[in-house]
Amino acid sequence: MNLDRSNRLQKLPPYLFAELRRKMAAARERGMDVITLGIGDPDSATPDPVIAELCRTIRDETDPNRHRYGCDVPAEALPVAIQHFYQRRFGVSLDLDQIVVTMGSKDAIAKLPMAFLNPGDIAISPEPGYPTYNIGTTFAGAVTHYLPLRASQGYLPDFDELPRNVRTQAKLLWVNYPNNPTTAVCDASFYERAVAFCRENGILLCSDLAYSENTFDGFVAPSALAVDGAAETTIEFFSLSKAFNMTGWRVGFAVGNKEAVAGLRTVQENVDNGQLRPIQLAAVTALDQAERLIAPINAIYQRRRDLVIETLGKLGWTIEPPRGTLYIWAPVPDGFAGDSIKFAGHLLETAGVAVTPGVGYGAHGEGYFRISLTYPDDVLVTAMDRLAKAL
Ligand SMILES: *Cc1c(COP(=O)(O)O)cnc(C)c1O
Repeated sequence: MNLDRSNRLQKLPPYLFAELRRKMAAARERGMDVITLGIGDPDSATPDPVIAELCRTIRDETDPNRHRYGCDVPAEALPVAIQHFYQRRFGVSLDLDQIVVTMGSKDAIAKLPMAFLNPGDIAISPEPGYPTYNIGTTFAGAVTHYLPLRASQGYLPDFDELPRNVRTQAKLLWVNYPNNPTTAVCDASFYERAVAFCRENGILLCSDLAYSENTFDGFVAPSALAVDGAAETTIEFFSLSKAFNMTGWRVGFAVGNKEAVAGLRTVQENVDNGQLRPIQLAAVTALDQAERLIAPINAIYQRRRDLVIETLGKLGWTIEPPRGTLYIWAPVPDGFAGDSIKFAGHLLETAGVAVTPGVGYGAHGEGYFRISLTYPDDVLVTAMDRLAKAL
């Protein structure tokens, strides 16, 4: 038996958080109470009406299909709810063949490259950025060209930096606003530039809207599909995970360019069997009531954001309060030579608080660390007290 790992697995980048994880385990072993602020996974419950709809539909004996493969018994109401939501929220009209339901965005982001990339092709991904863009590309045998995001440019990519051969060989361009991990947001004019760049170069724009509903201070995140003619060159990934505290439910959707949507659907049909029908029906409830359900969720994050920013402010950080995402992105303090792994290690050893080193998201994330706001207020308060004492 030869269980040497395939080239595609061996090509995955080293897991930069491994050492921190090992240190966390060691600290816990020594009896230290370690608080983790590392993971972006909402602590609060899914809203009641969504849970109620799941319970109702899974017990609905008049529906003979409630337990079956989701791909064979799709809830017709879900694409319709997606149409209404996109119209209401972004002013974007979608035809039914521009919509595909996904089992969360991560799954779909990893599958899309399988539909369109051949070995040797290029996909352009932001750096620092969400690792799954590169993982899907690597699994497809293709190559990622990283496009840096810099604080000095508001963490928006500069397409002029791309070498000529990358523009001609690239088939996909990933963008993600509100952005994980930098918390940057973009306005509609950025999407106009991105759509124009992609049209000019024959590239599919892949817009990851994972945090479009997690916004504060009245900021409303735009959609790339709202740009005139964007659907010719754009596919957009929306997820219910972060917006509705539904990470474990695994439901989202991709919308936009018809061929792109059809390609993703073909990969899905060959790999998974779709999402449980009662979860599809509960997703309809979430989308139909989005405005009402999301406001109280964001109020919690905004309060936590202010709590963390205030503590960091007292300790000498000046951080613009983020207008989106569930994170705080902060520079490593003086004395660590900008080494985010060293700082995270120090904070863990001296304060028992684990934060995410920015370099884990790519070289241009070095010099920063990320705090997630998906922890109860009292945990964040304790963590901030410990941080203040440790510095
Ligand atoms: C969390 C996250 C996702 C995907 O979440 P799913 O639960 O898979 O829908 C996608 N993109 C970014 C940037 C994320 O942070």
